[in-house]
Amino acid sequence: MTVYVNRIFFSTNDHPKLLGLSIYFQGCDRSPKCLLCHNKETWEPYKGFKYDLEDLIQILKDKINYALESYDKIAVVYLGGEPLAPYNRDAVFQISKELKEEFSEKIVNTLYSWRTLEEIERQNLENYIEYMDELVLGPYDYTQRNVDEKGNVLFPASKNQKYIRLNKVLSK
Ligand code: SF4
Repeated sequence: MTVYVNRIFFSTNDHPKLLGLSIYFQGCDRSPKCLLCHNKETWEPYKGFKYDLEDLIQILKDKINYALESYDKIAVVYLGGEPLAPYNRDAVFQISKELKEEFSEKIVNTLYSWRTLEEIERQNLENYIEYMDELVLGPYDYTQRNVDEKGNVLFPASKNQKYIRLNKVLSK
């Protein structure tokens, strides 16, 4: 399977508590797009960096192992773009599954999506989030930007976004 990614990096901005390995998937299927989106370069699918899925998973495993030399636990953050867009969701599922099976409680799989929980259910996408531990759901709404008095962006980036901890103990 081929997957397109815009960028991958370690960040302290994408999870409220943990260092995150943030994977920005390429392509966003929200229509219309969110006003003042900060990630316009991720909008168009099939651009960015093209990976064979298993090669990408191995790269991610190497990065996680590197981080775990210094941290007890990190977040693996799936964002974009839209991780649950039709052209990204199979790869997102497979990555989240293989990383969870390898690292178990040492990682917190965290999915960002413009879709709400109701939309995920209505679109029958629950299976794709089976290996997620936490969700940050809802579109970016600049009128509800979440910033402190100095203009620093807080978590989540807009106050309408719902942070959901699934608290699942995966037995798989
Ligand atoms: S869903 Fe994300 S990438 Fe898409 S328009 Fe909104 S903020 Fe931008």
